[in-house]
Parts: sequence; structure tokens; C-alpha cells
Amino acid sequence: MRRKILAANWKMNKRSSELSEYFETFKKHSPTLKPSSEIVFAVPYVFLEKSAQLLAQTTFKAAAQNVHWEKDGAFTGEISLPMIKEMGVKTTLVGHSERRQFFGETDQMVGRKMSACEKEGVFAILCVGETLEQRDQGITNVVVEEQILGALAHITANYAALLAIAYEPVWAIGTGRSATSEMAQEVHQFIRSILMSRFGEKAANQIPILYGGSMKPANAKELLAQPDVDGGLVGGASLSAKDFADLAKILGESIS
Ligand code: PEP
Repeated sequence: MRRKILAANWKMNKRSSELSEYFETFKKHSPTLKPSSEIVFAVPYVFLEKSAQLLAQTTFKAAAQNVHWEKDGAFTGEISLPMIKEMGVKTTLVGHSERRQFFGETDQMVGRKMSACEKEGVFAILCVGETLEQRDQGITNVVVEEQILGALAHITANYAALLAIAYEPVWAIGTGRSATSEMAQEVHQFIRSILMSRFGEKAANQIPILYGGSMKPANAKELLAQPDVDGGLVGGASLSAKDFADLAKILGESIS
């Protein structure tokens, strides 16, 4: 059975002093995780160590929001995979649309980050998705395929067990406007077909494909009921521990 993943993306939000209360509230309201499911919190770098410590005795994991592809060097302001691993963190987002949009990340850079994650044995949630303009032009599949093939250019099928894709239509991120469950399923199914031609059926069927873009308790049930929607990457609604715990419950209920 394919793993289900619910990932929080806090982006550049919260303060260190809020972490204990957030995680306590989340733990209090969240259900016991089903064995095939995972919950991760992608927090700002400066909270990674503390989050990893606070989550150490739980089944939940802290994750980075971004990493550099080199291990060390003259890359001011960047953080490497060995650095996050030293803090006990083995999961990261890669290629989030805000990195692409505001920090100039290209498919080639995303590909280098993905290769570094494979080498370091770090679980990557690769983010892809089209802008509103691209959807209106009818080129969603072209864009998504280019992003995935660029990111996975040097990735081997062995890494499939340590990889998830997050389909995040850019027009749905932080806008309150979510894709319909049919729209999400259509693109997720297309992504699965790309993964099949790239890695073969067995590996492709193991890779969780998450939906991201204004997912919240009110729309999660329908999205998570789709056969190729294996979880969610959640920005805004993850900032409330209670809402995120509600999403964890809905994820649990979606697993038969
Ligand atoms: C995100 O940042 O990955 C995201 C999906 O944000 P939101 O849930 O706020 O749309």
C-alpha cells in the first residue's frame, strides 16, 4: 500500500517561543497515525533543531523547506543536507513554487538538489505546478512534465522509496482557491504516468503524490478521496495546530 503523507509548510512564519505549544496542541488533537501514514512539519531553518527535539518521541517529523545541493562551500545564506542531517532531520521540500518564483530556482537547480537528496539519503517532497497563465493556455501537463523530468533527470528508481511529489497549482497557493478534486486527480494521474515511464510501474506506484494549494479541513475529504491523491502539502491551514490536526484526522479517515 502506498504511504499517505500530510506535510505542513510553515513558510516564513511563527517564532521559536510558539513551537512547544503548537506541537502540544497538535498532539492533543491529532489521531493515532495509521502505520502507512506520515506527518511532517517543514519549518524555517532556525526552528529545525528545536522542532526535531520536540518531535523526537513522536511519529511526526521535522523537515526543511529548502536545501543547497553542495555539502559545503562559499554559498552565503544557504544550508546543506549534511547540516540538516546533523540535526536529526532527513526530510526536505524541494522546488517549492515560491523558491522558483522569488529566488530564481530553475528546473536544473531543482534537479541538482534532488540528486543531492538521493546521494545523502534524504526524503524529498518535490513540488511542481503550473501558473494560472499556463493553465489558461492549456499547457498544465507540458509544464508539470518538464518540471518533473528536469528534477528527476539523474534520479534512480532505487530512490523512489524516498521520494514524494507535491502537485501545487501556483494559482491555488495561499489564494483560498483550491483545485477541484477532479482537476487534482487528472493532474495526479498524469504525474503517475510520467513516473511510470521514468521508473517503471512498481516504483511509480510507491511514490506518494500530494496535493497542495489552499487545502483545509473543509475541502480535504473530497481531495483525499481521489485515487491518486496520497496526501497534502499544506501552507496556511498548517499554521493552526487544531486545523492541521483536523486535516490529520481526515487523512486517517481516507485510509481504508
Ligand atoms: C504551500 O505553501 O505549499 C501551500 C500549499 O500553501 P497554502 O496551503 O497556503 O495554499
